[in-house]
Amino acid sequence: MDFDLFVIGGCSAGVRCARIAAGHGARVGIAEERFWGGTCVNVGCVPKKLLVQAGEYGAWAEDAAGFGWTIKKGPHDWNKLIAAKDKEIGRLNGIYKRLLDNAGATIFETRATFIDPHTLDVGGKRVTAEKIVIATGGYPMRLDIPGAELGIISDDAFFLPNMPKRVAIMGSGYIAVEFAGIFAALGAHVDLVYRQPLPLRGFDLDLRESLAEGLNTQGIALHPSSHPKKIEARGDERILTFEGHALQTDLVFFATGRAPATKGLGLENIGVKTNDTGAVVVDHHLRTSLPHVYAMGDVTDRLNLTPVATAEGHALADTLFGKNRRTISLANVPTAVFSTPPVATCGLTEEEAAAHGPVDVYVSKFTPMRHTLTGRARKSMLKLVVDQASQKVIGAHMLGEDAPEIMQGLAIAIVMGATKADFDRTIGIHPTAAEEFVTLRTRTRVAGVAKAAE
Ligand SMILES: Cc1cc2nc3c(=O)[nH]c(=O)nc-3n(C[C@H](O)[C@H](O)[C@H](O)COP(=O)(O)OP(=O)(O)OC[C@H]3O[C@@H](n4cnc5c(N)ncnc54)[C@H](O)[C@@H]3O)c2cc1C
Repeated sequence: MDFDLFVIGGCSAGVRCARIAAGHGARVGIAEERFWGGTCVNVGCVPKKLLVQAGEYGAWAEDAAGFGWTIKKGPHDWNKLIAAKDKEIGRLNGIYKRLLDNAGATIFETRATFIDPHTLDVGGKRVTAEKIVIATGGYPMRLDIPGAELGIISDDAFFLPNMPKRVAIMGSGYIAVEFAGIFAALGAHVDLVYRQPLPLRGFDLDLRESLAEGLNTQGIALHPSSHPKKIEARGDERILTFEGHALQTDLVFFATGRAPATKGLGLENIGVKTNDTGAVVVDHHLRTSLPHVYAMGDVTDRLNLTPVATAEGHALADTLFGKNRRTISLANVPTAVFSTPPVATCGLTEEEAAAHGPVDVYVSKFTPMRHTLTGRARKSMLKLVVDQASQKVIGAHMLGEDAPEIMQGLAIAIVMGATKADFDRTIGIHPTAAEEFVTLRTRTRVAGVAKAAE
């Protein structure tokens, strides 16, 4: 065999796995067909957050007046922002490649597909490996409606030649609400068109309601329970028709989900099972239906987040070559949505928790200190969900400035099984929004009682 391990995909999961396995002494090959660092570095988390930060400066320039500053907000230069972003991403691409080089992995800058269970076609070259890892991630999907080709997907949004004046975003998942915030903060009129009654399906209901209010006060036009029918072009303008009415915009953006990238890999020829969405089916040890073929990250479509993909890559390399068999727990994985304001969450929603039995719910909603002077209509909301029987904090949710930074620390407490009493005996840091999490004394409500009575 040419390699002990061959990794398909030079991304969060793939690069970490290849690098750590090579560090353990394995002969490793890795193929990447598009960009080192994968989705996260090139068309995901990293450039997205840079665009979010670009938008924040505009709001800060306006808010400064409340603190006595006279800052004249000039026009925003989209092309300058994109050029700066591209330069940073180029730097990160180089780092990823160097990490692999330094670890001694053999790099292939091309596509890899299966020929047989141990043989890959790597850019026209036959390569054999003892073990193979599929880390091919996912890709953005458009809705299947007439004129869909007139809309863009998130991959395109990072390379727009100009900042549009009007954008209609379809979808209400985290990518949709993040880009709604970005475009609105950079000066566009944004329509957010979605099928659900509230954005962020699957998140805690209080969070979803608070976010809808937040998006509204940011000036984003919300179109809940809307089903787009078609897109038409009228010159440079796009007409988006949904039941009963239509809207005119300059750019239609599909943020309507992602699919696992398994097409054309040749999985069907070698007997690696996929589910009905095309995701590779894996067990707790990331094993596919073939004992020497593994899959991890978004291509398995379980919890599609970069830190999960990276942790899986590391754990798999340690397990296979580091004499350290370990797995990753997907419980209590904290996550954030970089909307304006941002959202962060860890553990169960109130609705999920209440389905298992009674829970004490603590909610606090307040105007952040900064905005008492700026006058900006912005609220923060934070919430704890506590299992009544054990008094363990099983869910924490926040909408408000710095929510993602705050939630990372709280997640440690939740993973360790901290109780409400542990939170209560922790002294707060004053004056912060985060201190609310340790000073919530009055229960807002009890949920899940009916379940307990069964
Ligand atoms: C707009 C956006 C914003 C996001 N923001 C966040 C965030 O804030 N936080 C967060 O945690 N997650 C975020 N995510 C999700 C995160 O990017 C993914 O969970 C993560 O990138 C998954 O990593 P992965 O290793 O599974 O695969 P990916 O990063 O998707 O990479 C797969 C790689 O495999 C390559 N490839 C595919 N097929 C082949 C082949 N046959 N041969 C060779 N190479 C191949 C692809 O070119 C790609 O580089 C975001 C995603 C998007 C789209």
